[in-house]
Amino acid sequence: MSTSKSKATPETRCGFIALVGLPNAGKSTLMNNIVGAKVSIISKKPQTTRNRILGIAIEDKTQMVFVDTPGIFKAKKTLERAMVGAAMESIAEADIVVHIVDASRKNIADINGPIIQRLEHDKPKRCYLVLNKIDQMARQDLLARATEMNAVYDYDQTFMISGLKGDGVQTLVDDFAETLPNDVWHYDEDEITDMPMRMMAAEMTREQIFNQLHEELPYDMYVQTEEWEEFDNGSVKISQVITVQKDSQKAIVLGKGGARIKSLGQAAREELEEFLERRVHLKLFVKVQKNWADGAEIYQLMGLQRPS
Ligand code: GDP
Ligand code: MG
Repeated sequence: MSTSKSKATPETRCGFIALVGLPNAGKSTLMNNIVGAKVSIISKKPQTTRNRILGIAIEDKTQMVFVDTPGIFKAKKTLERAMVGAAMESIAEADIVVHIVDASRKNIADINGPIIQRLEHDKPKRCYLVLNKIDQMARQDLLARATEMNAVYDYDQTFMISGLKGDGVQTLVDDFAETLPNDVWHYDEDEITDMPMRMMAAEMTREQIFNQLHEELPYDMYVQTEEWEEFDNGSVKISQVITVQKDSQKAIVLGKGGARIKSLGQAAREELEEFLERRVHLKLFVKVQKNWADGAEIYQLMGLQRPS
């Protein structure tokens, strides 16, 4: 026997906010600023955001769920097309779509053309223009950019921010908090992302690889956390495998005499320690998985334990 009880409209609010924009517009920086932790990979190199990554933040009674989309809209390769597909889904599903534009660039209406076409096609419920990087430009130019963008798309609102310095971010967050629909919270109060810890730790190492190796490695390199062991003294031992496709790429990741992997490991460890707020012993391994090979061996190349 079941009794049905009509559900009162919850006092809380919850909804999805999709961040769209060209590579380097500042999507990940803004989301990390709001979420207050480094959940999404940030890099000067475009297209490092591969997946839909959720960042979750709470403002008063509102739970805001952010979807950080890959920043490419003119896809050529299959992988890129899949990434763009994910971005498009989030436009249609989102309660608010935030179009982030690097306002310090020239011809922003032109270069954002492909995104505007998508917005016109997908017709998001609400769409905000967020002019970012205002710390890098003169006030009068900013007003001209707002006019330029609003002439090519009918945005519900325009905000001007510096995602890096934080200017204007609270105004934007206040709007989200008041605008998202009445709903129960979809996630626990203390959750900041639905990405498991292990995956987040792998992202941090991947980010260091992009930072330090720039153009030298292809995007199909990946990092996986294989071991995560917590000790009574509060420290954690993390082992990760970096998979590349060719021996020549392995040599790049290792560097001369193992110098590169050592500095990768050190930088990633520092990021992890800051994030986890405890001591981290990080071990990195490099594996070559050729397209035609299966069961490739994993070689332990170097232990990167912090000296104690
Ligand atoms: P995404 O590709 O859109 O996710 O862009 P990111 O968040 O990775 O940022 C790309 C680059 O722009 C990074 O070097 C950021 O530090 C920088 N950036 C982001 N927001 C701002 C901002 O408000 N001001 C300035 N000066 N730089 C910013
Ligand atoms: Mg990004």
